[in-house]
Amino acid sequence: MIPVTRFQNMDVGVFGLARSGLASIRALKAGGANVYAWDQREAANTAAQNDGAIIGSFRTWPWEKLKALVLSPGIPLTHPAPHEVVRAARDAGVEVIGDMELFARELRNMAKKPPVIAITGTNGKSTTTALIGHILASCGYQAEVGGNIGKSVLELSVRDGKPIFVLEVSSYQIDLSPSLQPNVSVLTNITPDHIDRHGSMEGYVAVKRCLLRQTAADGVICIGVDDQHSASIYTQLSATSDAESVPVSVGKVLGRGIFVLDGTLYDAQRQHAAKVMDLNTARHLPGTHNWQNAALAYAAVKPYINDTRAIVSAIQSFPGLAHRIEDVGRLGNVRFINDSKATNADATARALAVFPDIYWIAGGKAKEGGIESLRSYFPRIRKAYLIGDAAEDFANTLRDVSHEIVHTMDAAVAAAARDAARSSAEAPVVLLSPACASFDQFRDFEHRGDVFRTLVADLSKNKEAAQ
Ligand code: ADP
Repeated sequence: MIPVTRFQNMDVGVFGLARSGLASIRALKAGGANVYAWDQREAANTAAQNDGAIIGSFRTWPWEKLKALVLSPGIPLTHPAPHEVVRAARDAGVEVIGDMELFARELRNMAKKPPVIAITGTNGKSTTTALIGHILASCGYQAEVGGNIGKSVLELSVRDGKPIFVLEVSSYQIDLSPSLQPNVSVLTNITPDHIDRHGSMEGYVAVKRCLLRQTAADGVICIGVDDQHSASIYTQLSATSDAESVPVSVGKVLGRGIFVLDGTLYDAQRQHAAKVMDLNTARHLPGTHNWQNAALAYAAVKPYINDTRAIVSAIQSFPGLAHRIEDVGRLGNVRFINDSKATNADATARALAVFPDIYWIAGGKAKEGGIESLRSYFPRIRKAYLIGDAAEDFANTLRDVSHEIVHTMDAAVAAAARDAARSSAEAPVVLLSPACASFDQFRDFEHRGDVFRTLVADLSKNKEAAQ
């Protein structure tokens, strides 16, 4: 844990007690602050009370004494409208910050400040973050990975040896972390997502740009330049930022930067393009989207690691992340792939691009835009099995593709497994890649993916029992 010492003997409010809220309470208490806290869930309040917080509705907090409000990134700061607790803080002149801001201020005070690599973007954040952590750990660094992935940033620690922080930062967290100053920042890509929470596409792009702008003057900014928004951020920052900007592309040869062509990673940061590796040898990074993640990870670790061969072998040994094009089993020649993390059409497109013969399980809580953008992949879909709120809507878009509204995950897995087993294709795949949020039927995307995995395991057991 990183104790937060800057609020010793001061009063702080913590609102929203999920992982980062509870970690903030523990870190603030360890540093000697008085903490007022509230969540609508009783169990969270009990946990916070056990950690020493004073529990009560924010309306009862002593706002005149509070020095800061630590807000959960899940609670609206500005859009669609500021939450009442944010308005209460503004009325009382109390600053509103997040757990990463507490971390950043603490770090600023350290005599020997470990470097920070911060990763943001619409898609690929977690994979890129985990991969950077894996490469650094494989090359002898004490890499502490957290933020929007795994542990809250305040649950990390400064370890002996060569400590380094690798932080996944969501756009909500950027809004709440004005002093986070990465040594290396990474922008994977920008496509429309979460627009409701940022007011407009311009607002969303501006927030992402903000984190990159906060990069230390002697730092490095790595930007995936294959979408128009990220490319224009690169153009702006390479002209205006003191930090070095490194463009990263999949499919375009760059005169200077890092790029991938036909699966081969090239480093053209110095004079000429040097071949680094064949990314097809990284078994758990399938698809061109993962080539983008790997190329960005390479760019991000390069300032710290000279030995290119060590980086290559770490990329090859990366085990992959659960719920992202994760192979969860095989029955006969049918593979079952869990891509539950694909909560929007853009993410699903990446998985559809990897496989030629797909029995596709999709649907859930629909996001704006639906699946019209996936039309060019429809020829790969042998049949779609639609679940959740979005089923009717998806069925309309899939008029020319074989599909069935099955409503639930268990019905979807049973039907898809049955049809895929009858396929004459060489390697048919049952793919859960929902292009939707999960909240209509599941707690979260992990729960959805775990249910899928269990159903696939049950199919295997039943098959064994029948033999
Ligand atoms: P994030 O943390 O940004 O949500 P993840 O690494 O968890 O990203 O990947 C989420 C989903 O996005 C995956 O299911 C994958 O299909 C898709 N994805 C991963 N990397 C990329 C990328 N670079 N570009 C587009 N889509 C991607």
